[in-house]
Amino acid sequence: MPCPDCAAERARGASFCGKCFGLFRSPEAPGLLERLARWLPRRRRRQDRDAAPPIAVETRVEEVFEVVDANTGETRRYRSLDELPPELREAVESARRGMRSRR
Ligand SMILES: [Zn+2]
Repeated sequence: MPCPDCAAERARGASFCGKCFGLFRSPEAPGLLERLARWLPRRRRRQDRDAAPPIAVETRVEEVFEVVDANTGETRRYRSLDELPPELREAVESARRGMRSRR
């Protein structure tokens, strides 16, 4: 039986093609390379099937903005950018844009 990939003559008992090095698939008595080649993709496929990772990681980033009023010295805490008054939010966002563009 010739090589299924390049049609080169198949040496008797060879587990891979001598011309294109493609592995021959023989269900009966597979060679070492063929068994290895079967084992590797199967391992990968099994990992794809069990898509759930062994551990669950949850990442949360929390921001706290402390704004000191220059007139009263009073500190106000905001726990998200959305809580900030619009003018402060704009100041924070433009400062961040500036930091990003400088990198
Ligand atoms: Zn071949």
